[in-house]
Amino acid sequence: MEHNKPFKSALSVSEGVAQPPSVNPALQRKKPKVLTTAQYIEGILSGNRTILGRSITLIESNLTEHSIQAQEIIEKCLPHTGKSIRIGITGVPGAGKSTFIESMGNYIITQGHRLAVLAIDPSSEKSKGSILGDKTRMETLSSNENAFIRPSPSAGSLGGVARKTRESILLCEAAGFDIIFVETVGVGQSEIAVHSMVDFFLLLMLAGAGDELQGIKRGIMEMADMIAITKSDGTNIDKAKRASAEFRSALHLYPASESNWEPKVLTCSAIENTGIKDIWDNISEYKLFTSGNNYFQERRRRQAQYWMLESINEQLKNNFFQNSEMQEMLASLEKKVLNDCISPFVAAQQILDVYFKSAKIKKES
Ligand code: GDP
Repeated sequence: MEHNKPFKSALSVSEGVAQPPSVNPALQRKKPKVLTTAQYIEGILSGNRTILGRSITLIESNLTEHSIQAQEIIEKCLPHTGKSIRIGITGVPGAGKSTFIESMGNYIITQGHRLAVLAIDPSSEKSKGSILGDKTRMETLSSNENAFIRPSPSAGSLGGVARKTRESILLCEAAGFDIIFVETVGVGQSEIAVHSMVDFFLLLMLAGAGDELQGIKRGIMEMADMIAITKSDGTNIDKAKRASAEFRSALHLYPASESNWEPKVLTCSAIENTGIKDIWDNISEYKLFTSGNNYFQERRRRQAQYWMLESINEQLKNNFFQNSEMQEMLASLEKKVLNDCISPFVAAQQILDVYFKSAKIKKES
């Protein structure tokens, strides 16, 4: 084909003009300025939500230099942490968690509090953050300057994600957020992780037709300090009342909790904002009650001990599995185990012997 020949031909192609870039370069996001550890700390302590968000990104990062800086920040923020009530909120997808958090969040902010909402979502690795992923779910809350909303870290093992969430709680507290919500989907292991980092555990339940006790694991009900039946509005009110009576009698069958607190069953509607104040008053009562009998402080002490052990576990595991020599040896031993050439226990002992020996040499040198 000929280009731009002076004579007219149906086969000629004119050069045309260059296409403008699809994105205005002037609008491209500038890389944020690198902050020093002192600037991070100052920002957090002054309640700056952008800097708080960036420091949580450091906690979530897998780069060694980021984790070192994150640990320094947490260390310096520690004296400013702890003065909050940490509330775990769980419920099956569709139970109304985010609508509830928005309604409850707006209410407690009007009571003079500052609220941080964090999430643990074990499914997020696959679904790229199914809970709190899109902030539009909590529109009015996320635009409120007294609220800080952070989606679940989208990668890592549950243990790793849980540790990051716990560290994020500490930074939120240092930034002056005195109410912390940790949201999780009530379908499995993550409730146990959340339970180990909160003071109060709230289970949101839908009123079903006689199947109230199904779909949620018994263990999760036992952990609950309160059950709230959601969507108690319109034609659903009677159903919600019936469900709460059923839950109340079911809870009586459980042994008394260590805190001596009797879990309540309440109903609410996040859309009509009814029952929200009652739930909040009840949580405040729990705080008074458990502070009075010292359970509140004792539970936090035990959680701190648990997190120290978890942190050791996680680091030992990472150290072992990320060691290239161990990875090679593991791969070859795995083949032998699969082919029945060696027993799994002998194989485990062999590789651990090599690991411990190299760890010892490193320690002594
Ligand atoms: P999540 O998956 O647990 O976070 O649940 P959502 O908060 O996204 O709510 C799931 C659905 O239930 C949405 O369509 C909400 O509009 C609806 N919903 C939530 N709370 C209420 C409520 O109090 N009353 C009624 N009628 N619907 C609600």
